[in-house]
Amino acid sequence: MSETLDLPGWRHVYSGKVRDLYVPEDAARDATTAERMLVVASDRVSAFDHVLSPGIPEKGVLLTTLSLWWFDRLAGGDGGRDIPNHLAASRVLTAPAGADADAVRDLIPPAVAGRSMIVKGLDMQPVECVVRGYLTGSGWAEYRANGTVCGIHLPEGLSNGDRLPEPIYTPAYKAPLGEHDENISYEQTVELVGADLAAQLRDLSLEIYDRAARTAEERGLILADTKFEFGLDDAGVLTLADEVLTSDSSRYWDAEAWKTGHSAAERMASFDKQIVRDWLAANWDRTGEPPTLPLEIVERTADRYRELLQRLTGW
Ligand code: ATP
Ligand code: MG
Repeated sequence: MSETLDLPGWRHVYSGKVRDLYVPEDAARDATTAERMLVVASDRVSAFDHVLSPGIPEKGVLLTTLSLWWFDRLAGGDGGRDIPNHLAASRVLTAPAGADADAVRDLIPPAVAGRSMIVKGLDMQPVECVVRGYLTGSGWAEYRANGTVCGIHLPEGLSNGDRLPEPIYTPAYKAPLGEHDENISYEQTVELVGADLAAQLRDLSLEIYDRAARTAEERGLILADTKFEFGLDDAGVLTLADEVLTSDSSRYWDAEAWKTGHSAAERMASFDKQIVRDWLAANWDRTGEPPTLPLEIVERTADRYRELLQRLTGW
């Protein structure tokens, strides 16, 4: 499922559904992590925990660009405090062809420029830190059945797409590759990582959501929900990792459409993977392999990803 590349100075160690991870060539043979790692975002798209085909053209570049922009804002660029992130090397450095191993450690190979980050290898925490400001998706399904989202009781009478009284933290257990992530209670995250870290994960996630939602709002966008991943660095500092606030990890809606739209579809005109999820939900019974995405869906998704980047960053 991954098209791992031959990148001088780097050795491939892991492929997730979307990203490929590399360590420096001279890292220990069996190392799956290292002080410096290269994270390459592919054009692969996943939905319902399956990688689909074909990929979305330019998606890896768009998601990386957006992540870098958000890391920068969260490092103080939005006026808030500096949230530690996993970026190690400057994004503009690109290794010249033929550079030796020492020189490339902090440089991005030209073949993957634009869709890669050099990061600090972290001790990743097995919790996907989901924050929801609005009710939709699996949260809406659970609310309709039980009046709760991930076990949290919500007021009666909410509709699909409604804003929640306040953002809620609904963690999930990050399942190993090939298994499905599973919603868990806050108490279960305490069992997984300890009380102190569980509280840090929750508080940091809510803080970042709040800051990002305000930034989005200033640009006429709603950040409906999002997912963060964190890891510990060598000094034990909780550090924001992976991708952040991208159209893969978040639901973004147009604020004006949300206000004036009549149907759920009009209100939740999305800039994210929802287009793919909706098509798949209507055209696949979730048994066997998922069907090939039609070109129209691929193009619409690519257009919306591009539009989101433009609306957020102005680029
Ligand atoms: P999905 O995000 O769709 O659930 P996935 O998490 O299986 O898929 P990817 O996001 O494609 O996989 O792969 C990225 C992998 O890299 C994840 O396992 C993530 O936890 C890990 N990762 C991200 N940043 C770091 C880092 N700084 N150090 C170590 N591992 C990292
Ligand atoms: Mg991931």
